[in-house]
Amino acid sequence: MTKSLRIHNTHTEIGVGKILCLGRNYAEHVKEMNAQFPEEPVIFLKPTSSLVRNGEAVFYPPISQNMQHEVELVVVIGKTGKNISEADAYDYILGYAVGLDMTLRDIQAKAKKEGLPWTVAKGFDSSAPVSDIVPKKIIADPGDLTITCKVNGSLRQSSSTKNMIMPVNRIVAYLSSIFVLEPGDLIFTGTPEGVGPVKIGDVIEAEITGLIRTSHRILAY
Ligand code: MG
Repeated sequence: MTKSLRIHNTHTEIGVGKILCLGRNYAEHVKEMNAQFPEEPVIFLKPTSSLVRNGEAVFYPPISQNMQHEVELVVVIGKTGKNISEADAYDYILGYAVGLDMTLRDIQAKAKKEGLPWTVAKGFDSSAPVSDIVPKKIIADPGDLTITCKVNGSLRQSSSTKNMIMPVNRIVAYLSSIFVLEPGDLIFTGTPEGVGPVKIGDVIEAEITGLIRTSHRILAY
């Protein structure tokens, strides 16, 4: 089934394509994970089926005892491009959203240790909650936004996209050298510090301060 996101304050629905994700794009998060600073960006994918919209539930997979939140700025691609230059990158962007890269930290830790892919830890059903889309004309500079995550109303993550190691235009250019970017593709741009566990019954809320938010209750399978 095709998944879609709405453009905020409109009835326009945008069909969602592939979901590309960056890891380790904020220095303070790299440190809290005791991870290495990557020489090249860490890239992974979530299937389109993992997407959930504002207000929809996130289901806690029984295979994990440690599901965690990672708030991220999400870039929404607006037109097809390959080998896009950093200078042209913004022309290919339709808008921005805020998303949660829900992660099964115990499964991811085991995969890291064994050198195996992160597909299960990152791509399970409802692992990609994403807000409505804010058109790019509303956002003067995607490198100057505050993103936050609250669990049951208490603040868990808060940072500026200024702290990204790779800014949005470089991310678009880099990814387009590997994957053709197509309308409706989403790019999760990495999480700042403060990631942590959630439990069944929690309400998790992600926000680009003053612009858009998305809210999700964690339910049992
Ligand atoms: Mg992430």
